[in-house]
Amino acid sequence: MPANAPKLTPAMQQFHRFKKQHPHCVLFFRMGDFYELFYDDAKLAHKVLGVTLTQRTEGVPMAGVPYHAVEGYLRRMIQAGYRVAVCEQIEDPKEAKGVVQRDVTRVITPGTLTDEHLLDDASENPLAAVVFVDDATVALAWAELSTGSFHVGAFRRDEALDELARIAPRELLFCETADGRTPARIETLARSINCALTPRPGWQFRAAEATEVLKRQFEVAQLAGFGLANDDPSLMPAGGIVHYLIETQRADPAARFAHLQPPRKFERSNHLVIDQTTLASLEVERTLRTGSTDGSLLGALQHCTTAMGKRLMRHWLCYPLRDRAAIETRQRIVETFVQDGRFMRELTAAFEEVQDIPRIAGRLAVNRATPRDMVGLGASVSPIARLYELCQGVPSLQPYHAALRELVDDLSQLSQTIEQACVDAPPAHLREGGLFQDGFDQQLDEFRSLQRDSHEWLARYQKQLAEQTGIASLKVGYNKVFGYYIEVTAAHRAKLDSADNAAMFRGWTRKQTLKNAERFITDQLKTFEEKVLTAESRAIAREQQLFDTLCEQAKQRIDALQQFAAAVAELDVLACFAQRAVRMRYVRPTMTDEPVLDIRAGRHPVLDEKLGDQFVPNDVGLGSGVWGLGTENPQPESDQTQAPRPQTQASTLALITGPNMAGKSTYIRQTALIALMAHTGSFVPAEAATVGVCDRIFTRVGANDELHAGQSTFMVEMTETANICHHATPASLVILDEIGRGTSTLDGLSLAWAIAEFLATKQCRCLFATHYHELTQLSEQFDNVANLNVTVREWQDEIVFLHRIVPGATDRSYGIAVAKIAGLPAAVVQRANELLKQLTVSHEGQSTQIKQAIAAPGSLGNETANTPANWRQPAGQLGLFTEYLVHPAIERLHKTNLDALSPLEAFDLLRTLKRELEEK
Ligand code: ADP
Repeated sequence: MPANAPKLTPAMQQFHRFKKQHPHCVLFFRMGDFYELFYDDAKLAHKVLGVTLTQRTEGVPMAGVPYHAVEGYLRRMIQAGYRVAVCEQIEDPKEAKGVVQRDVTRVITPGTLTDEHLLDDASENPLAAVVFVDDATVALAWAELSTGSFHVGAFRRDEALDELARIAPRELLFCETADGRTPARIETLARSINCALTPRPGWQFRAAEATEVLKRQFEVAQLAGFGLANDDPSLMPAGGIVHYLIETQRADPAARFAHLQPPRKFERSNHLVIDQTTLASLEVERTLRTGSTDGSLLGALQHCTTAMGKRLMRHWLCYPLRDRAAIETRQRIVETFVQDGRFMRELTAAFEEVQDIPRIAGRLAVNRATPRDMVGLGASVSPIARLYELCQGVPSLQPYHAALRELVDDLSQLSQTIEQACVDAPPAHLREGGLFQDGFDQQLDEFRSLQRDSHEWLARYQKQLAEQTGIASLKVGYNKVFGYYIEVTAAHRAKLDSADNAAMFRGWTRKQTLKNAERFITDQLKTFEEKVLTAESRAIAREQQLFDTLCEQAKQRIDALQQFAAAVAELDVLACFAQRAVRMRYVRPTMTDEPVLDIRAGRHPVLDEKLGDQFVPNDVGLGSGVWGLGTENPQPESDQTQAPRPQTQASTLALITGPNMAGKSTYIRQTALIALMAHTGSFVPAEAATVGVCDRIFTRVGANDELHAGQSTFMVEMTETANICHHATPASLVILDEIGRGTSTLDGLSLAWAIAEFLATKQCRCLFATHYHELTQLSEQFDNVANLNVTVREWQDEIVFLHRIVPGATDRSYGIAVAKIAGLPAAVVQRANELLKQLTVSHEGQSTQIKQAIAAPGSLGNETANTPANWRQPAGQLGLFTEYLVHPAIERLHKTNLDALSPLEAFDLLRTLKRELEEK
């Protein structure tokens, strides 16, 4: 507001008061039939919602949305990442003395949504808080108000970023700074995970205050029971979250959220670690190109029936397990379902009635459940008895049977109560009642019969008046402003003044004159109106009372509801795995603690479905001693490959060469995806698979080459590779595609070479796709390096991709052939072929010369002195670099001391050098 602004109206004074209380929110300010937005909020609404920008008074921008359509506008505002405070008129404007009283009744933020229509049922909607504890440690807490889940953890800085990517919060809370600016490190975080940022008062994150609010919320004297020591740094962000929930839910600070679970400590080591890059480049949740779920692993597997199953599926794919026994427990259930399809269908049929129980429980806990939620809850828990019965006697389902036993009586009873109390098709809200069945409550029945009888009374009254007055068209009607009235059309109005009607008409009072009619009221009608209206409002009040009682009963069972929902979600996902396994012919992978990865006839889970029979399956044999599980590995198709070296030791690193478009990326990605799927308990797209439990999956693949965070493509490539080199262990799986592509050939080759050597030494399982054919020589240095290539058939001057991975190295790239397929003009292709021939000839001549030069003393021969211990120097290994060495004439020129030459000697040297150059 400008300093010289005219005096504010009382309503605008209210606006400024609420805006001050909610400075970080867009304020929707109710004025009559509209929610108005002012100043910057109005400009924002114009931009985000496309509503017209006007002026209230000069210099005050204003925009409005009609009250009945507000939910849609709220949703769009929240989806755009803004926080909204809704300021309502809290008294009837007709009864207001002076300005209408208003108050903020709802604060809606991206991370605290509970309303069904604001949430996506297949996605979690987490709220996270971050505290930078010191230079090395970051404490995180994340909770979902809509379901009540709550987790905490302390991480190294780089780990925190990866974890935030998996959590995918919609909103991130952080301590505000004295100058009100967002610290750069917070902005970096938010940019990389794309979420709304909310600054919060620093005191709410202080250990003492945080501990207090957590103890109050969970009604405990100590937090140690939750595995949280007094000095655990993750208490700070956890406290920040609870403070924020109290504030946004406008809850009494002493109140507690009945559904919020105690903070559970997240242990990174319990899960297969998938960093942000890997999550994105393996397209686990969404594709890189379009960002949509379609085409991702989740998109391929997601066929869950229930909303909580859908969310759990995403969760399991982002948090695969590391404990072999836990993975096998899941596998056993999938196997049960695969073996007995009828049983599985019977079980999943029970899920069809199950609605989003955790979110209904969440709305119950924050007192925002609707009549439809209640009826939905009743229907959702009704299959519990059936499920309990079905799990009985099935060995793999015993844990579920035991869990359901604890819940079945209590929840069946709740379901019955709801079913007996409520109608099948409940209203969206209780404003006009209509939720409870007749006969459920005596008082409600009385009020209702009064209302129902009144309709008959009105009809009788109308008939009686029409007869008395002789006006057949006389009507008794009702409107909200005037209440009940008698309406006589202008054509018959004179009849009322007749002598016959005079006595009766004296008792009528005129209420309203319309163009063609007049409306009257009588004492009798007034008495009736009072009785009816009070009966109606008393019936609604009674329904509200009954609803509150029912909500209270359900609230008492929130724990049980959450446990039941968790069991249903797990069984739903496992059944979904099984259905996929049957439909797509997946197999159960054998899990082992040995560092192996053996896959026979593996397929890409997404492409396999898209291409059907066209998809060519391939083997993997990392760490297993023999390449591939099969002994009948196909031999190379053409003479493009060199014969494979007999394997003496298990190979942990496979170099995959082959032309572009041959299928290298597909092969390495499918391998990583199969490994990932195996760790979730899912079956995998292969004929057979043995998967050694991994601690991490790392990827560095080309498709992620984007300029982001101000880094060049090459910088991104090297940063990601550095991360892999630092953190890969013998238990890791590493997938590398085209390392070194982002720099000059010589640099790139040297880097790719050194990185491959390094990873071979680390003994992690690694697939390394490269277009540097020279790297295939590594297999001569390292026993644990194998060469693979993708077969290509040459046919009538064309190439055909066979997409088959076979042992051995290749030395041709077929770049021009691929360019031809891509549609490069024929003239360009022909010219490229000519140039290639010339370059090959000169390159070969040069190579021979340089090799001779290297053989001479003083060459580069001892450059490799400080290489890893298990390095063997193969004969002629330096030939690799010779094609990039400078011409000997240039070398000589460099070494020449010009000051030591006479002009004649200099001239002679020049002549010799020129001759040498011309000879090449
Ligand atoms: P590269 O990494 O060698 O350039 P890609 O893995 O990107 O090749 O594969 C190129 C295209 O070839 C893919 O888009 C896919 O359509 C097809 N392809 C790859 N692997 C297979 C396979 N095993 N079976 C059938 N088609 C495949």
